Amino acid sequence: MTTPATPSVSAAVQALADADFSAVASAFVAAGFAVAQPAQGILQVKARPAAGAAARPSVLLSVGVHGDETGPIEVLAQLLATLAEQPQALAVDLMVCVGNLHAIRAGRRFIDADLNRMFRAERGTLAGTAEAARADELIAATLAFFDGAGPVRWHLDLHTAIRPSFYPTFAVVPDLIGDAGKAALIGWLGQAAIGAIIMNPASVGTYSYYTAEHCGAAGSTVELGRIGTLGQNDLSLFADVALALDGLLRGVAQGPTVAAAPHVFKVAQQIIKLSDGFRMAFDRSTQNFTALAPGAEIARDGDTVYTVGPAEELVVFPNPDVRVGLRAGMMVVRIA
Ligand SMILES: [Zn+2]
Repeated sequence: MTTPATPSVSAAVQALADADFSAVASAFVAAGFAVAQPAQGILQVKARPAAGAAARPSVLLSVGVHGDETGPIEVLAQLLATLAEQPQALAVDLMVCVGNLHAIRAGRRFIDADLNRMFRAERGTLAGTAEAARADELIAATLAFFDGAGPVRWHLDLHTAIRPSFYPTFAVVPDLIGDAGKAALIGWLGQAAIGAIIMNPASVGTYSYYTAEHCGAAGSTVELGRIGTLGQNDLSLFADVALALDGLLRGVAQGPTVAAAPHVFKVAQQIIKLSDGFRMAFDRSTQNFTALAPGAEIARDGDTVYTVGPAEELVVFPNPDVRVGLRAGMMVVRIA
């Protein structure tokens, strides 16, 4: 079952949204690559091993983990279509994942529950959801892809944010990534003109934290601006990241020549929703990276009151609508 294409959606974009890799896959097969589709919406393209050749970098690109975040689907579809015209330019072993296929079709963030909280062993009440089963498929394919890969491992999980942000693009980077991978990742994020980086000390079950922790990948959740309808995203907003992604796949550094270094933040506190009584102290229009004064109230949940510490903190991902027990926002402070 496929969503009828509207005239504004290109064939390549609609194919990727439908997890139809046939055109891209046949181009790489014809060029001699080993191509596999281990599950629906997952494509692997690897060079056939040559005697004495150094291991190629392994790059995982995921899109549509939230079904209504369509900009990255458009960006990736165009990149793959262009690359498929010159398949020998691919300089890495590549895995592409289209995350929440049912939610993409429905134009929704998720069907039962947030897929980007499922990448952990303990799922509690989320265990029986459609997204838990999908996460299992993604995890199995991801572990297999990185098993035996060379030392250079990347995972860029591409999203768009629900709400406006003082930094239109930003990335969440797991603290536990090794120094070399972290430096390369931060350098690439700068090339992609990403405005801010949040160093994250603990998993909340995201896909990129999982690959960093379990696959040794330089993984990052990359937020690229606003939610939009498939085929109607303003791709000029994604130009810098598209160029940097293309360079990553071709093994060449490319991006804006005067990209500023991203501002770096660390997490001061995670705001967990403890009950249905959870209330935030600000309204839903609050932008990401809005600054709150020292001591200010952040949220209230029964007897628990979350307040800003002794220094100013900025709020990111405020979302009081999450399930009880999940993160309703995080507070960050700038460190560089
Ligand atoms: Zn998202």
